[in-house]
Amino acid sequence: MSKLQELDNKYVANTYARFPVEIVSGKGSIAKDTDGKEYIDMGSGIGVTSFGIADDIWKQAVLDQLDKVQHMSNLYYTEPCVKLAELLCEKTGMKKVFFSNSGGEANECAIKVARKYAAEKKGPEYYTILTLWNSFHGRTLTTLAATGQDHYHELFQPLTPGFVHATANDLVSVQKLVEAHKVAGILIECIQGEGGVNPLTAEFIQGVDAICHEKDIVFMVDEVQTGNGRTGKLYSYMNFGVNPDVVTTAKGIGGGLPLGACLMGEKVEHVLGHGDHGSTFGGNPVACAGAVSIINRLDDAFLAEVQRKGKILFGALEEAPGIETVTGMGMMCGVKPVKPATDVVKKCIEKGVLCLTAKDKVRLLPALNMPEEVLVKAVNIIKEACAE
Ligand SMILES: *Cc1c(COP(=O)(O)O)cnc(C)c1O
Repeated sequence: MSKLQELDNKYVANTYARFPVEIVSGKGSIAKDTDGKEYIDMGSGIGVTSFGIADDIWKQAVLDQLDKVQHMSNLYYTEPCVKLAELLCEKTGMKKVFFSNSGGEANECAIKVARKYAAEKKGPEYYTILTLWNSFHGRTLTTLAATGQDHYHELFQPLTPGFVHATANDLVSVQKLVEAHKVAGILIECIQGEGGVNPLTAEFIQGVDAICHEKDIVFMVDEVQTGNGRTGKLYSYMNFGVNPDVVTTAKGIGGGLPLGACLMGEKVEHVLGHGDHGSTFGGNPVACAGAVSIINRLDDAFLAEVQRKGKILFGALEEAPGIETVTGMGMMCGVKPVKPATDVVKKCIEKGVLCLTAKDKVRLLPALNMPEEVLVKAVNIIKEACAE
């Protein structure tokens, strides 16, 4: 074990089962380790570095802002967060944005919005939040309660009360819970990321949208992983013609700096008032300046390229030897290998490709601007690792 790995073991909380790879630098989709070995980065920091490592345009936006002011309290106005909020609202039709620093916090905000809306409109007993089994919404005690995976819950009881879970792609199970509980809001991921890159069906997503609008339930979509161009649309719900009241995002929006956002639509735009919510770092000007540069580049032509490269990715992996299924959309891809996913990931590391896992899948979230030839090279290595 290297010195760095020894020190990490000694001093850093032991919450991550790390692979023995020490990344020191990189450019675009290529990451370099301490020995100078190069890897094609098919994980982009779990879908965070949307335009790759040390992207020049993003870096310039961040550096320009660093020269002006790196942080100011939310007692005063700063331009980057206003610009970013305007851009997000213009591109989505949402009305207001609350900025935080992570996906978990973006979902905390959404849950508060749904509860306050329902409490004021229908009464304080309407506090239940419905989510799906196998979902992932974060690690705070409230977003863990939202997360429909028991193994995350066991040792942290009691979690925030008031959460129920329906079965993904089973509208009847949603309807039953909506009848049995006083539901404030429903929160879904259109593709369950951590849960194994499991897409919800269009019928189910549209059905949930209809139930929410019929019963005046706040419809919330967690776009922390699926958002910001990942599926070939700006946000994944846009693939399904639905109208969420709340959209949360994080990961790829910041391009590598911590940033979360909770977008609020017309129905709930006035729910949060002074003092209802806050975050010291939320809307940080450096993170927001970088995010403006990211969101600005996600135009229709760029998103069409994401769709095109997604087709190359899926086309190459589907029905390849050693691969059982390929799920996902755009440049969000879950590969179920015949052998254990971590074995494939380890083989890929040896061969110079960094991949993620999600449950029993190898999960691929490459930078959205990964050049086609680099993508093809990485996919061939992944195929080899699955087939061997
Ligand atoms: C990663 C993720 C989160 C949590 O985001 P953090 O930034 O780690 O708090 C929430 N929801 C989804 C769908 C995610 O993929």
